[in-house]
Amino acid sequence: MEVKLAGYNIDSTIIEKVRATESLKGLPLTPETVAVAYARISRDSSPVTELRKKSIEDVEAARKSARSIVFEMNHQSVAEHAVFNFDILDISRLCVESLEWHRLCSYTEKSQRYQELVGDHILPKEFEGECRPLFEKTMKEQNELYTKAFKILLEYFKGKYPSMLEKKWERRVVEGYAKEDARYAVGLATKAQLGFTANARNLEYLIRRMRGNPLDEVKTLGEQFFKLAGNVAPSLILLTDPMEYLKEFGRPLNDDYFIKTHPNASRLASRTLEEFGEISSIQEYPASGDVKLIDWSKSADNATLQAILHSHTLASAEACSEAADKLIRDGGAEAFIQDFLAYSNPWESATREFEFTDFTFEVVLSSACYGQMKRHRMSSQLVQQYDPELGFTYPPSVIDTGLQAEFETNYRQSSEAYYELAKYDRAAAQYVLTNGHRRRMLIRANAREMHHISRLREDAHAQWDVRKISGDMLALARKKSPLSLMLAWGKDSFTDKRNELLGS
Ligand SMILES: Cc1cc2nc3c(=O)[nH]c(=O)nc-3n(C[C@H](O)[C@H](O)[C@H](O)COP(=O)(O)OP(=O)(O)OC[C@H]3O[C@@H](n4cnc5c(N)ncnc54)[C@H](O)[C@@H]3O)c2cc1C
Repeated sequence: MEVKLAGYNIDSTIIEKVRATESLKGLPLTPETVAVAYARISRDSSPVTELRKKSIEDVEAARKSARSIVFEMNHQSVAEHAVFNFDILDISRLCVESLEWHRLCSYTEKSQRYQELVGDHILPKEFEGECRPLFEKTMKEQNELYTKAFKILLEYFKGKYPSMLEKKWERRVVEGYAKEDARYAVGLATKAQLGFTANARNLEYLIRRMRGNPLDEVKTLGEQFFKLAGNVAPSLILLTDPMEYLKEFGRPLNDDYFIKTHPNASRLASRTLEEFGEISSIQEYPASGDVKLIDWSKSADNATLQAILHSHTLASAEACSEAADKLIRDGGAEAFIQDFLAYSNPWESATREFEFTDFTFEVVLSSACYGQMKRHRMSSQLVQQYDPELGFTYPPSVIDTGLQAEFETNYRQSSEAYYELAKYDRAAAQYVLTNGHRRRMLIRANAREMHHISRLREDAHAQWDVRKISGDMLALARKKSPLSLMLAWGKDSFTDKRNELLGS
């Protein structure tokens, strides 16, 4: 066996120093060389160490190979071997949502839960003109309420948790409670910062999508990625231009091209579906709070048992399904799953066998809550735009401290500003909506991801909003698939639940 460390992320200031060193001028400081060397493994029997050497010696030839392998032969996974890190500062929360929509990347962002906000927000290009006074006024009012609410909520939480005021780290937690609830007052134009890591394949895809986004800020971010990564790895960041895309694929790159080109465009963009024929009966789905379970694997527990049997025996899928049915019928299924889960712990995820049972939910959730749910990359999520008609989310602390009326006024004024700004630009009008405004999300997750969501979000450390939503999702799913979700509990209660079910 021979294993070589072929490369790893290096801080760009160090790369610049190498670039500036006279004796090292001309060194190919690009991740393309590794990606191309790996691409050549497929057809070239030379040791991979030699292939890497070859691509370093002739970078132009390597770039030519990359273009042909990745774009002509459609072997795009090769581009995943080139990885980029970006520091991103001063973008809006709305822009972060468009970026983080891309799930196969890595993000770590400023938490509005742990950091106090100081009224900083972006001014969207769309509202630089006559709309600016209304936009600025809305931002000012939102931030004034944030500042006032933070002070009141801090005293409220200090009073609620007096034993947590001694130790510095516990005081920070109490402050965090006040920050996370006060932030429901502020809008989606609030500034964020994040660290972002993506491989070239994902980066190219997201640049392409961002350049077609209706928001100017998102387009500009896409341009920046293109400029910065395209300079370093031109052979891997190619198909990102909206005009080229139109030429190549015959349709515009914009996210909303379907809406714009559909014959029922205006109906689609509104709430009414009349053009699609009479809708006679609305199906009732099992619901809990703002969560509806709209679809689930009908024989959910059978599917999980079948998968466990299949991966541990040499039997066919049919035989495993039959055996699973028999276990369920004869009452042996629970003990079987208990044996399988006997060595589970709160830190390790459920195993792959749990991916064969699915649940689909429609959730109405606040922007603050969506900001957390969107990070669960192993689920499939689709969202509508924010919609003031869906009502508002009030933190319980806001209600307890008598701040609800002021929050309601803030939510309503922000909604009015939204309706006014939407006359100019509906997508950009969302910048003035707050963390308490809501949207509809469709989310599909398998039982493995449901375990993970529960572990992190039903846990006592999780924020109350996402804890409630995930708790409702899990409660509905557990009814349909009690065995598959037997150990889907928050990290804090996991050990007790496991001991209760399986013995300590
Ligand atoms: C209490 C709390 C506080 C938080 N605070 C912050 C914060 O301040 N800032 C912030 O940015 N985020 C914060 N988060 C979000 C957190 O960092 C995660 O992004 C989020 O919880 C989703 O978790 P995940 O990545 O494990 O899950 P998912 O994306 O749902 O992934 C499920 C599992 O798949 C695997 N997986 C998915 N993608 C990859 C990958 N690319 N590489 C390797 N394995 C992968 C992992 O095993 C992962 O656990 C916080 C979360 C919690 C619960």
